[in-house]
Amino acid sequence: MAQIIDGELVAAEVRGKAAALVARVKAAGVDPGLAVVLVGEDPASQSYVRMKEKDCAEAGIRSVDYRRSADITQDELNAIIDECNADPAIHGILVQLPLPAGFDEEEALERISPEKDADGLHPQNMGRLVRGIDGTRACTPWGVMAMLDHYGIDPSGKHAVVIGRSSIVGKPMALMLLERNATVTMCHSRTVDLASVCRTADILVAAVGRPGMVTAEFVKPGAVVIDVGINRTEDGLVGDVDFAAVEPLASWITPVPGGVGPMTRAMLIMNTAEAAARAVGIDR
Ligand code: NAD
Repeated sequence: MAQIIDGELVAAEVRGKAAALVARVKAAGVDPGLAVVLVGEDPASQSYVRMKEKDCAEAGIRSVDYRRSADITQDELNAIIDECNADPAIHGILVQLPLPAGFDEEEALERISPEKDADGLHPQNMGRLVRGIDGTRACTPWGVMAMLDHYGIDPSGKHAVVIGRSSIVGKPMALMLLERNATVTMCHSRTVDLASVCRTADILVAAVGRPGMVTAEFVKPGAVVIDVGINRTEDGLVGDVDFAAVEPLASWITPVPGGVGPMTRAMLIMNTAEAAARAVGIDR
């Protein structure tokens, strides 16, 4: 039976470190602030934002709410981002995705100052990841790396297979594993014979958004299985991995819920704390 990678546990540890860093920033006379920009009424986004604001409060970070209805224009959204970029009391900016139909997400993300890019999705920070230099990393894959580190799972020399190639998860995940010396294969919707490719993985990361698609035939015995998927079904929240079928085979596995999800939120808090620390010249 696999050992469980406990995202709640590791996230609490990361939040604790973030809170300690926030305390040092406050001691230097600065009150860290995160701008949370939510456009529209999507219930899932509203719930994510509520949780992120709660995390902020716990870590001692002031969250500044910018809630707008879906009928604002892209120019109005851009103006909010510009205001936050210029505000010295704001150290991180989060634009909750997805934006409602009609908005240009790329334009919004690119408008955020890279220094205040709490989600780590700005092209400059993504470029820094590609170049292998320091920068703010994308929260979800960065959270996966923190989980692997916590449990002493070293990707070096391992074959890592990432299913999904989005800019938010799959691509940066593959690059982070590569940065840590894994041999990386990226799979996607056009991959031929996906199960056979996945079966060669020592570390298998599923980031697709299809409930239970990773079955036992995808998994080599002893593999580490990371389930990024969050799917709302009639049976509640489930991942991309058929947990009951895969758990007996894997060496380590993340549950859903309680796996990668809490880590994404924790890394947002850490990215904001680090941005505030940089603003006052404190080294992590
Ligand atoms: P996305 O829709 O942008 O990308 C999905 C990827 O899956 C695409 O690259 C596509 O090529 C690939 N894909 C689709 N069908 C496939 C198939 N049949 N076989 C192989 N690959 C296939 O999604 P995303 O934003 O990367 O999110 C992926 C999942 O992760 C979703 O369930 C999302 O809710 C979840 N997610 C979770 C967290 C978290 O904190 N745990 C954060 C972000 C996203």
